[in-house]
Amino acid sequence: MDFSALNKATANSFHQQKAIIKKVLAGKSVQCPSCKQPLQLNSSEKQLKIECVKGCTDIQLETE
Ligand SMILES: [Zn+2]
Repeated sequence: MDFSALNKATANSFHQQKAIIKKVLAGKSVQCPSCKQPLQLNSSEKQLKIECVKGCTDIQLETE
């Protein structure tokens, strides 16, 4: 098994997530990388979430 490839993929998605979070919080419209549906910012009790309608993107933001 090639762990370096795995680590690289994880780092990429981490950076991709950060980029998505930044854009959504800036009020820009961002598409889900998987299903191309618009991502939405949902806020519930003490939690912010960025998700698409299909649920393939589900990013939870820590709020303090
Ligand atoms: Zn999606």
